[in-house]
Amino acid sequence: MPIQVLPSQLINQIAAGEVIERPASVVKELLENSLDSGASDIEVDIEAGGSRRIRVRDNGTGIQQQDIPLALSRHATSKIASLEDLERISSLGFRGEALPSIASVSRLKLSSRRPEAASGWALQSDGPEPSTTTPVAHPVGTTVDVRDLFYNIPARRKFMRTETTEFRHIEQVVRRIALSRFPVGVKLLHNRRQVLQLPPADTRAAQERRLARVCGDAFMEQAVYVEHAAAGLKLGGWVAAPTFSRSQPDLQYFYVNGRMVRDKLVTHAVRQAYADVLYHGRHPAYVLFLEMDPVTIDVNAHPTKHEVRFRDSRLVHDFLFRTLHDALAQLPAENLPPPRPNRPLQALDIRTGQGSGVPQSRFTLDIREQLAGYAALHPAPATDATTNTPAQHPHEDCPLGHALAQLHGIYVLAQNDKGLVLVDMHAAHERITYEGLKAAHAGDGVRAQPLLVPLSIAVSEREAELCEHRQDWFNVLGLEIDRTGPEQLTVRQVPVLLYGTDIESLVRDVLSDLLEQGDSRRVETSVNEVLSTMACHGSVRANRRLTIDEMNALLREMEITERSGQCNHGRPTWVQISVDELDKLFLRGR
Ligand code: ADP
Ligand code: MG
Repeated sequence: MPIQVLPSQLINQIAAGEVIERPASVVKELLENSLDSGASDIEVDIEAGGSRRIRVRDNGTGIQQQDIPLALSRHATSKIASLEDLERISSLGFRGEALPSIASVSRLKLSSRRPEAASGWALQSDGPEPSTTTPVAHPVGTTVDVRDLFYNIPARRKFMRTETTEFRHIEQVVRRIALSRFPVGVKLLHNRRQVLQLPPADTRAAQERRLARVCGDAFMEQAVYVEHAAAGLKLGGWVAAPTFSRSQPDLQYFYVNGRMVRDKLVTHAVRQAYADVLYHGRHPAYVLFLEMDPVTIDVNAHPTKHEVRFRDSRLVHDFLFRTLHDALAQLPAENLPPPRPNRPLQALDIRTGQGSGVPQSRFTLDIREQLAGYAALHPAPATDATTNTPAQHPHEDCPLGHALAQLHGIYVLAQNDKGLVLVDMHAAHERITYEGLKAAHAGDGVRAQPLLVPLSIAVSEREAELCEHRQDWFNVLGLEIDRTGPEQLTVRQVPVLLYGTDIESLVRDVLSDLLEQGDSRRVETSVNEVLSTMACHGSVRANRRLTIDEMNALLREMEITERSGQCNHGRPTWVQISVDELDKLFLRGR
């Protein structure tokens, strides 16, 4: 083929491939345009998950009649005119690509009116050639009406998921953007039903109400307000106390000069600030706003503008880390999780297996009952009454040997024929619980036990809906949860294996697993992931004192559990150190 210049419609469709991935991307671009136009009120009206219709109306400055065709042409923008402008961007848009891209893959109608104009003007674009503007009745502001997205790109249409899934993505975009501009009122409708209405929020109290609507009441209850400025940087916003952590990084909103960004440097700085106070594998929750001189950031790093480049990344990292670290350090003690097991070695009374006054963790399951159950199944061998160590007794029936003691509240020490066995008790117990749940799930279903007092949990509307929708699925997992309000769930039954755990954070984690997985078909295949999350909650935590009998019960249970050599995260659950190896350590030749 000879080289030829592509027709403009095709160029726009190629650009659309980059920025318009799904209906939610259209919503993002249109909302950003409305914010750039100075609107104080925006309404987003969706039909059929956005595949049939996406309409965004705003009361911003509007577009003059002669500029309307320009707005729909490629590389036409009112936001920058020179390289200098590009280097100090304060608007969300600047590439002049969104409207022509959207128009090239849908039937788009733009109507707009400037304050000084006598009437509004509209332009319908549903082919390669845009038609001319016609007068319309329209209040000051702009409406962009996008119908039949991807009607002319069948390959893209096929990639669209169910209406519910696409709408969930749209809702997420609207929520994210609503948090970036408190003074702007935002309304969202789906199939004519109002889904979200956020009035303008000018006071701190009103802002916190908006936050609660978007992130849930539980987040707001645990959130503290942070504000700090130094070295030309200003950070403000809300961070959740470590007691409200998540199993997924799904409640992390970070804005730079009003633009939502996902940035590795930012994530890293925040993680580090939480490092001392968050369990491994948990994710902090936050809504934070960083303000800085636009000259010191490059937003032109990515077509969808999700990433930014900081000119002085070290400075930004340190500023974020310091500010958040100090804020977390000032939290009252009840907002911190129980101390992590890095305390000095404590004397352990071998005879009783009891330690001296180790605080009980709030996250801890009382596994005594469960282990007592195991113990009944695996009667302990005769022990020497004075030391409570196993009497000289052959270990052949017990590959993992007999428990001697517990170290640092983390490890079980046992003796077998070969030498010393060291068990990570949390990892081991987690594997046992997981395999138990899996077996029960594959068999007659997970056995459930009603809670004496049903537990109410405040969640976001999205989580409540999801739970309602998946009630049967939860039942199979042994969880009976009812939706008892728009943003409230009541837990009535839990799996026997998990009775006594912190059910609230268990349910939150399972919900966030599900939200992360999205589409319903995948949920069926992700049962194991959810069971694994549940098992992690149901497992004995570090710092739990076990009696020798309980330790032995754990060892016996490990021996009969499949894959008990690794915890669910792939770490080993136990190691053997032979007498030979110990001899070598002490240079003890034979
Ligand atoms: P960009 O936002 O990068 O400039 P777009 O293609 O999104 O490019 O929009 C092109 C132009 O159309 C904008 O620069 C702006 O002048 C105008 N425009 C688009 N949407 C609106 C709106 N809601 N209100 C006012 N002007 C708008
Ligand atoms: Mg734009």
